[in-house]
Amino acid sequence: MENLRKILLAESEMPRHWYNIVADMPNKPLPPLHPATRQPIGPEALAAVFPMELIKQEVSAERYIEIPDEVRDLYFTYRPSPVFRASNLEKALGTKSKIYYKYEGGNYSGSHKANTAIAQAYYNKKEGVRRITTETGAGQWGSAMSFACNHFGLELLVFMVKVSYDQKPGRKLLMNTYNAKVVPSPSTMTVAGRKILETFPDSPGSLGIAISEAMEIAAEDPYTKYSLGSVLNHVILHQTIIGQEALLQMEKAGDYPDVVIGCFGGGSNFSGIAFPFLRENLVNDKKTRLLTIEPSSCPKLTKGKFMYDFGDSAGMTPLLPMFTLGHNFIPEKIHAGGLRYHGAGVLVSQLLKDGLIEARAKMQRECFEGGVLFARTEGILPAPESTYAIAGALDEARKADLEGVSKTILFNLSGHGHFDISAYEKYFENNLPDHEMTKAEVEAAIASIELPG
Ligand SMILES: *Cc1c(COP(=O)(O)O)cnc(C)c1O
Repeated sequence: MENLRKILLAESEMPRHWYNIVADMPNKPLPPLHPATRQPIGPEALAAVFPMELIKQEVSAERYIEIPDEVRDLYFTYRPSPVFRASNLEKALGTKSKIYYKYEGGNYSGSHKANTAIAQAYYNKKEGVRRITTETGAGQWGSAMSFACNHFGLELLVFMVKVSYDQKPGRKLLMNTYNAKVVPSPSTMTVAGRKILETFPDSPGSLGIAISEAMEIAAEDPYTKYSLGSVLNHVILHQTIIGQEALLQMEKAGDYPDVVIGCFGGGSNFSGIAFPFLRENLVNDKKTRLLTIEPSSCPKLTKGKFMYDFGDSAGMTPLLPMFTLGHNFIPEKIHAGGLRYHGAGVLVSQLLKDGLIEARAKMQRECFEGGVLFARTEGILPAPESTYAIAGALDEARKADLEGVSKTILFNLSGHGHFDISAYEKYFENNLPDHEMTKAEVEAAIASIELPG
């Protein structure tokens, strides 16, 4: 049995390395800064909250980083993930274009987040950590970490954004099943949480607040570390397994994408599928467009400002150079909880600034409409987050048809929506509001950013 497993692993399409885009970026990302001194921080500044191996990956410029066997073993329970041709969707559209999607919902967590959860739990365990704290928005990240921590014998404490805690009780119970403790955020467990509750007792919470709470607990205890499910370079590194597999799978299909699309929360699933294709653009003269879709209610890439800002609301992280709406920004309660984050990862931000990737914003009703069409034609109920990528793919196909050309479109279906059925109910009842941040609102949000020094 064990032998067969080894042979299968060895012959699998699954890559043996993660790909680090930093090695191939024409302009390297700016360094994180210490909030008080405004000087670049060294890796040791992160040692209180992250294990050393992840810090090394965070600052690494090495092109390929080997995936440890223990991590590959668990990956192998659900990877390689399939690439499908969406033939029935194509028929329903009557498009001349070819639409492919990579499905990341077929694992225990129901989303791509398992890819980094497994790696992060593994490195923490290896360095003697006993407990991990983290935040979760919609609950996918918390579920991903819960199983991974339990597998490697670590305790997990999850701060779940309050609005999602109320909207998605199923996700909380799944985390409990995998042995995690889940607390609605803002909570009274931390200084950061209590401070918010004093001013806004009814606060719906935000990812920024939940991150502050989780980091505060981790910083207080040497055996507790903190873990983040998106945004950071090491998270994005782990997700590149998606795009590397997709490169091979598209080659097997005898095709190559003109455009690769992913939805955008902090950047991890988009980067995961896009960066290996971006490398082909940078190194092998390919011309694939890399397009990410964010919600109009949280438009950091399309309307935000590129500047140094905090990654969390209480200002516990280093200052990071990124597109942001301001670390105190609390987005509307749209149903794609995983996309309600005020900032964008440093790597994606630099690449967008350099014009190497594209971003567009969409309203949630159009995305759900695309999601329902996708469910009815392809048979998979998408996560609300993933419907943004679907809507982006539909746009590209329709645009190509108007221009009388045929395109090859590949998008990342980042997760399934089995826990989000009540959001679909609201859509069917015509009870799902559209919301777009105006320019004036964005300017006000950015103007309110208070940075020390
Ligand atoms: C968390 C999540 C996202 C958004 O996060 P990224 O880091 O931007 O990928 C998108 N889709 C699903 C299904 C998620 O769980």
